[in-house]
Amino acid sequence: MKHIEIAKTVAQVRALVKQARTQGKRIGLVPTMGALHAGHVSLMEAAAKQTDFVVVSIFVNPTQFGPNEDFTKYPRTLDADVDVCQKAGVDVVFAPSAEEMYPSQQLAWVNVERLTDVLCGASRPGHFRGVTTVCTKLFNIVLPDIAFFGQKDAQQAIIIKRMVADLNMPLEIVVCPIVREPSGLAMSSRNKYLSDQQKQDAAAIYASLQKAGQMIKSGRRDAKTILAAMNQILQRTEAIQTEYIHIVDAAALTDVQVLKGQILIAIAAKIGSTRLIDNILIDVDV
Ligand code: AMP
Repeated sequence: MKHIEIAKTVAQVRALVKQARTQGKRIGLVPTMGALHAGHVSLMEAAAKQTDFVVVSIFVNPTQFGPNEDFTKYPRTLDADVDVCQKAGVDVVFAPSAEEMYPSQQLAWVNVERLTDVLCGASRPGHFRGVTTVCTKLFNIVLPDIAFFGQKDAQQAIIIKRMVADLNMPLEIVVCPIVREPSGLAMSSRNKYLSDQQKQDAAAIYASLQKAGQMIKSGRRDAKTILAAMNQILQRTEAIQTEYIHIVDAAALTDVQVLKGQILIAIAAKIGSTRLIDNILIDVDV
């Protein structure tokens, strides 16, 4: 197996990337919070295909968690994660401490307006400011040619793309499809919190998205009817508490009444105390 480097400091990862660059290599970055699963691996594989030197960052970023969220209990499995990265052919794991990333009080923040106020942003104030700030820091540290994100976090991917475009950041963003369990449940590090029963219950989330997909395929265009059918499926599973379901324009993230163009159907729901998100992206031919 290929040798993998583990960088704990900004200086270390910068030196490794610099060396790769002098060899003419193109750099790929996969930002993660660890507890790696097949969804993360799909990003690493895309990175290995499209670039020559893959850096995976593993950092549970404190600034994107709210005060009552799961920052302290978020799964941290660095040794297993390094094995996953090595098997996937990753060159460097960048696993900094919080002190390394935030050595002093952070006074400079990156904020994307409007797109961050809706969907998950409505119930997680400050979350996306933490995400855009840490991604900017990671982009400035690693200087990747391409950074890879998952469609699983659809709003995040849209916000990051907009940030890169609006601020002329010199990299490309590639968004990879959602990897699912056989039940349809989108893979997530937070699935580790779920019991087997809860995992079964959680499959209703994707079932409701599939129902929406079928309705659109068969010609339905009114959001209200589609949302009602989705709600019906979700309500059948008592364990699911829906936080939101929205059908939005995939670029502006504004609600649509009559479906046309590229739309995103996004759900956030709680099972017990675990918050899950899922979505589908559909090109609606008018
Ligand atoms: P996280 O570690 O949860 O912050 O996720 C790191 C990256 O992996 C993000 O860009 C996610 O969108 C992506 N990701 C997480 N789960 C999946 C999945 N099931 N399929 C594809 N990408 C995913």
